Amino acid sequence: MIMILTQARVKEGTTIYATSISNSWHGSKVLINEVMPEIVEFKARFTSLQINDDVSGESQQLTQMTQGSSLMSEQEKFLYKAAVKSISEINALKEDATIVTIGIIGNFVVGKSGWYYLSCSNCFKKSESNIAYRCSCGTYNENLIPRYKLEAKVYHGKDSANFIFWDRDCTCLIGKSALKLRDLMIECGEDDPKIFPEPLDDTLARTLAYRAKYQVAYNSISVSKVSDDAEFIKVLKEQMCCNEVIRYLTIHEMNDYFLLTCVFPACISN
Ligand SMILES: [Zn+2]
Repeated sequence: MIMILTQARVKEGTTIYATSISNSWHGSKVLINEVMPEIVEFKARFTSLQINDDVSGESQQLTQMTQGSSLMSEQEKFLYKAAVKSISEINALKEDATIVTIGIIGNFVVGKSGWYYLSCSNCFKKSESNIAYRCSCGTYNENLIPRYKLEAKVYHGKDSANFIFWDRDCTCLIGKSALKLRDLMIECGEDDPKIFPEPLDDTLARTLAYRAKYQVAYNSISVSKVSDDAEFIKVLKEQMCCNEVIRYLTIHEMNDYFLLTCVFPACISN
């Protein structure tokens, strides 16, 4: 697929943000596989370089682009306006931030409410009652729906932090809804949310990427997206290593460098 975007705004990437391209005020046009001299010439260059101009996936990709939706890739959405930080850097944060990080889910934190909460059937809001009630969203709830809210300790190297995982991500990771899992427990004569059933263990010991919101006031890390894409995790890992090196250079090596080059220049020449 060859796409031309006219009048585009390009924002250069940094160590924290990926390069982004967006439309400009009313002026942008997207041309996809147009028959025009520039594209014909561009395609001809691919032939001479013997690079496979793969068109087999075109129609599939195009149907995935629904009108009006963002043209950002899943990874760009994952990273959008977020800072890539290691868990040790997150633990040092002094203000609210949207962060992207990686780590291994080590163990669950039982807490006060266990692994699920009862909610309105429409809006995911925690139920105000244990019996039938009308939610503030207007829905009359005959039956309350269990939803995942799982607190777990996530490790990266020697550092760790407690992350809160919500219904959608847990359902993906575990492969079962909280309702289904709670029903399985009830079949075994148990419905205490502080008893963690075995299928929850499927989330453990996996290295994942997380997009999350850190809030100082609650000292909490609330996960909004999870990815198990190995390539993406590798890229994030490399980026975090770069951050660590920059920090180390700033504090220690820059100081040494200054001493060597400005205070004791003779040390270098010898
Ligand atoms: Zn509701």
